[in-house]
Amino acid sequence: MERVPVTRKLVARYVAGTEEQDATRVSGELVSEGMTVTVDFLGEDTLDRQQAASVADSYVSLLDALHQSGLSSAVEVSLKLSALGQALPADGEAIALEHARKVCDAARRAGTTVTLDMEDHTTTDSTLGILQQLRLDFPETGAVLQAYLRRTEADCRDLAYEGSRVRLCKGAYNEPPGVAYTDPREVDRAYVRCAKILLAGPGYPMLATHDPRLVEITGSLAAKYRREQGSYEYQMLYGVRPEEQRRLVRAGERMRVYVPYGEDWYGYLVRRLAERPANMLLFVRSVASKR
Ligand SMILES: Cc1cc2nc3c(=O)[nH]c(=O)nc-3n(C[C@H](O)[C@H](O)[C@H](O)COP(=O)(O)OP(=O)(O)OC[C@H]3O[C@@H](n4cnc5c(N)ncnc54)[C@H](O)[C@@H]3O)c2cc1C
Repeated sequence: MERVPVTRKLVARYVAGTEEQDATRVSGELVSEGMTVTVDFLGEDTLDRQQAASVADSYVSLLDALHQSGLSSAVEVSLKLSALGQALPADGEAIALEHARKVCDAARRAGTTVTLDMEDHTTTDSTLGILQQLRLDFPETGAVLQAYLRRTEADCRDLAYEGSRVRLCKGAYNEPPGVAYTDPREVDRAYVRCAKILLAGPGYPMLATHDPRLVEITGSLAAKYRREQGSYEYQMLYGVRPEEQRRLVRAGERMRVYVPYGEDWYGYLVRRLAERPANMLLFVRSVASKR
């Protein structure tokens, strides 16, 4: 499937473009609609030291560009540690930490923050360990927890402290039943349990889901725990339920859109298409129209 050509239109629905200026342009458009943004420079699983360093440089350059265009108070960045060399043999974690520090430093200079995306379960301990290190100097660094992992309620309790920014998502990787709930209803129930822990605590929950039921439930939980709007936020992906994103902004909620950009868009796009059968139809049609 990865070798099949797709139309520009389909890529453009989910990905800002290949260049830094595409990311700043799309961020500017979303900010002008009242949204906040987190930008992801696409790429993951680097086993090349130079490539890892170059990803960190791309983030630094992006943060400078966001600062210069006056967007950095509303736009942060999301980082995948595997793109910064986390999986390199021997000293991968130390390399990823060093690169992540550099990006956090640039984010602070620009007046914004970094969130560490969460990848497959084999990296969870390492990523949370690096987060802990980073937070010593950059306590504003955001974490991501995946509700489908059986461990996540405990991680939510650990991370529900004052000033702690935590994105809660369902989880996007194909995980074995030993570590993750595989029944979607169980994942939803786990999401609600985790959201309760985060919203009841003193941290800053970032509720990342497009699921209409979960958006409604988390809204009532926020009211139940007397959370003021702005003391938590919703997050959705660029191109997914944009009308709902606007509706939440109109309702006074803080809405952050995850905007990916870069050459390495194929894996990201395929994950998004696989999340929804209707998208697969769109994909097949776009392929058919190429013939
Ligand atoms: C801001 C953000 C950051 C994320 N970061 C991470 C991360 O760091 N690590 C990680 O593992 N996962 C991450 N994810 C992905 C997440 O784990 C899920 O895989 C993804 O959000 C789909 O789950 P859902 O909660 O939207 O619910 P689902 O049950 O998948 O979807 C609910 C409904 O939302 C709509 N919808 C969902 N996806 C799509 C789509 N692609 N196109 C069109 N409609 C759609 C459909 O109407 C669907 O019925 C992130 C998601 C968001 C929104």
